[in-house]
Amino acid sequence: MTVLEEKICKLIAAVGPISVADYMSIVLSDPDHGYYTTRTAIGLEGDFITAPEISQMFGELIGIWCVAAYEALGRPPRLSLVELGPGRGTLMADLLRAGRVDPGFIRAAEVHLVEISPELRRRQAAGLTGLASPIWHDRIDDLPDGPLIVVANEFFDALPIRQFVRSERGWRERVVGLDDNGNLAFGLGAAAPDPALLPAGAAEAPLGAVAEINRPAEAIVGTLAHRLAQHGGAALIFDYGHVKSGFGETLQAVRAHHYADPLREPGECDLTAHVDFDRLAAAATAEGASVLGPTTQGDFLLAMGLTERAGALGAGRNAEEQANIVAAVERLAGPDEMGTLFKAMAVTHPPLALPGF
Ligand code: SAH
Repeated sequence: MTVLEEKICKLIAAVGPISVADYMSIVLSDPDHGYYTTRTAIGLEGDFITAPEISQMFGELIGIWCVAAYEALGRPPRLSLVELGPGRGTLMADLLRAGRVDPGFIRAAEVHLVEISPELRRRQAAGLTGLASPIWHDRIDDLPDGPLIVVANEFFDALPIRQFVRSERGWRERVVGLDDNGNLAFGLGAAAPDPALLPAGAAEAPLGAVAEINRPAEAIVGTLAHRLAQHGGAALIFDYGHVKSGFGETLQAVRAHHYADPLREPGECDLTAHVDFDRLAAAATAEGASVLGPTTQGDFLLAMGLTERAGALGAGRNAEEQANIVAAVERLAGPDEMGTLFKAMAVTHPPLALPGF
């Protein structure tokens, strides 16, 4: 049993079963033993690999997008360039390098990173040496006022979801409790949940249907959209998920590039859930911001010039390097890889016509 598992079992023994969201939140961000707080799991040698770690082209094209947003915003003299959950800092480094095409953008941009992991903050500082002097924050509420450009890749999927199951007794919240042997086990809460937490069509959903809701993700997008509406700016969000709300279970654990059991060895595996872009878009428009997309990551990157960028990057390289670049294009944009499952969505104020959508 991991130390974190013991801690969770003791908590449940004391207070009773906890929601999936509370479980996810402890597993990922417990200050002493949480998955993100204690390790740098991203990359080939870690548990999972992300788009910026596949190729520099991903961050570079996002850099070009940010410059386009800066132009569309009328070239403000100062702006906060914000990344949520920057991992190893690779995306921001590639973005800033590509952003040098417009020295005005680089001069105006003050880099802010929202990151809970002390270990990853150290990695980000190292990765950005010579490129930026970032300011770190635990939460987006601490960001300064003023225009902002925000990017987030695989950030929202790491926030805690609540799950609801259509049972014989009606909809019930899925909880994490203890089985007869004292091991972590899923169960159902006793009370009926607030119907506002369930998606449209919940009343007609079949037995066993699962609905998920990511309140922190919606709250963060709402806060961001509010700031954009007040101060002007644009946010670009990438994640795996669905364009329309619906039913289905997407909570998953990944360790060393393989799926694992979300209730086994908590703190040792990454836990994520698909992002419901429908609800994120609704949270943004409710605050008066405009939404572009969502579109697929593949379509976004191709519209941003992925093929041309790959051609330029490969020019003059040897056959092996060129094959690696072609493989990276396929992984980032191919329909069987990240191209279709991953989505891109932008939130802006004022409404802006931006490339990629
Ligand atoms: N964007 C990076 C990393 C994705 S992993 C990439 O594409 O490679 C998720 C990132 O979000 C990690 O940096 C993790 O430490 C951070 N994170 C997770 N939950 C967070 C929270 N509640 N607040 C701030 N950062 C968080």
